[in-house]
Amino acid sequence: MPQFTVVSVHSGVTVTTVRFYSTTGGELVEKRSWAEPYKIKMVELIKMTTEEERKAAIVEAGYNTFLLKSEDVYIDLLTDSGVGAMSDRQWAGIMMGDEAYAGSRNFYHLQKTVEDYYSYQYTVPTHQGRGAENILSQLLIKEGDCVPGNMYFTTTRLHQELAGGTFVDVIIDEAHDPNSTHPFKGNVDFGKLDALLKDVGSDRIPYVCIATCVNMAGGQPISMANLRELRVWCNQHGILIVHDMTRVAENAYFIQQREAGYEALSVQQIVHEICGLTDAATMSSKKDAMVNIGGFLAMNDERLYERACELVVVYEGLHTYGGMAGRDMEALAIGITESVQDNHMQARVGQIEYLWEKLESAGVPLVRPCGGHAVFLDARAILPHLKQDQFPAQALAAALYVESGIRAMERGAVSAGRDSKTGQNRLPKLELVRLTIPRRVYTQAHMDVTAESVVRVMHRASEVRGLRFTYEPSMLRFFQGRFEECDS
Ligand SMILES: *Cc1c(COP(=O)(O)O)cnc(C)c1O
Repeated sequence: MPQFTVVSVHSGVTVTTVRFYSTTGGELVEKRSWAEPYKIKMVELIKMTTEEERKAAIVEAGYNTFLLKSEDVYIDLLTDSGVGAMSDRQWAGIMMGDEAYAGSRNFYHLQKTVEDYYSYQYTVPTHQGRGAENILSQLLIKEGDCVPGNMYFTTTRLHQELAGGTFVDVIIDEAHDPNSTHPFKGNVDFGKLDALLKDVGSDRIPYVCIATCVNMAGGQPISMANLRELRVWCNQHGILIVHDMTRVAENAYFIQQREAGYEALSVQQIVHEICGLTDAATMSSKKDAMVNIGGFLAMNDERLYERACELVVVYEGLHTYGGMAGRDMEALAIGITESVQDNHMQARVGQIEYLWEKLESAGVPLVRPCGGHAVFLDARAILPHLKQDQFPAQALAAALYVESGIRAMERGAVSAGRDSKTGQNRLPKLELVRLTIPRRVYTQAHMDVTAESVVRVMHRASEVRGLRFTYEPSMLRFFQGRFEECDS
């Protein structure tokens, strides 16, 4: 694991010369400062609020940061989904929308871009990632099937369950330990996969679901070596690999930085190689590809594509637009090409590492190593006086908002929901608050303010009270659930 040591900080100037131990060689190398490979052409003003106003706002929102009004938020780190800043070229693409009902020029551009950059031959546009998950789950899963995956994602697992399947976690144990510094915490544990195969047989495993840069594990990558081994395993047993490719470019960047043999390849080349090892993919283009809305399902199998075209007209729209406008498909096609540039990824992950290092050096308990899209606070370690069924991560996110107007997201027991069979609360090992960094939106100064605010909340941690539900939705409860403070 790289061990970062700040050697010099020049105040006022883009910060830091950093020394680190390379993962491969072990010797000390010097890392140069990063800076954004773009300049700002337009700005959006944000509102400042008082602590009194924020206290009232969080009560009104039922202590759920999803229910806050965006106008009442100062630095919005709720998610990196659909909130990236599009480039001037993407905005120009918006003007090039061909809004024909059928056969839009932008669809063919998108399809060709997906094939060129991601290697998949067939593309079915959807309104966002979950639209693709719905179609794919219905096509491949039958009642009683098991779907192994490298940790669950909320909407992905729900669609697997709605299609009659059961999600089985086969990620390595290190992924559930916030302190493990394993460089590829997104890896699959073949012991767990073999055990499942022995238990249920290959007939009941339609595919293995592989997320690149695993969101729920803290934005942690899977290695190419592990993915290759999975390809061999799946070929042996006649099982498909479905790729949740929402953050594939970030995963590719970590492979370039951390995996022996990939130093000299570009992010673009690594992305292509990752996709080539999988059979089909679901994409939320609101992340890596920096558009405000959109997604797709992609695959190489022609028969599967035909069946997807039949279903997409039921849920989304005709197969040449799915859930997207022509202009949105154009912005997406352009966004894909920008997302795989090395200098983009270096600044993207560089900004997250910058925040991570600031918090780490202030002694804030974090998920290690630094992930690709967010910094994850270990809420259990920060609020040791709360039991997990008092939802420490939810309480910490609310306290951070009141402190400074920064909006973060809970990723712990509330997000994990209830077991679909027993109805009991799932209590995951990771009880996290996610500070998610939108792409190309905030500056280093915003990161400084964020770090200072987290440290201040940590110093007042004993004042933060636990929460209990006042309204609990039956599915994906983290979005609309409401809470009140517990008495003690
Ligand atoms: C966001 C996300 C999804 C779902 O995509 P939407 O566009 O929000 O529907 C699926 N998987 C992962 C890993 C995601 O981060």
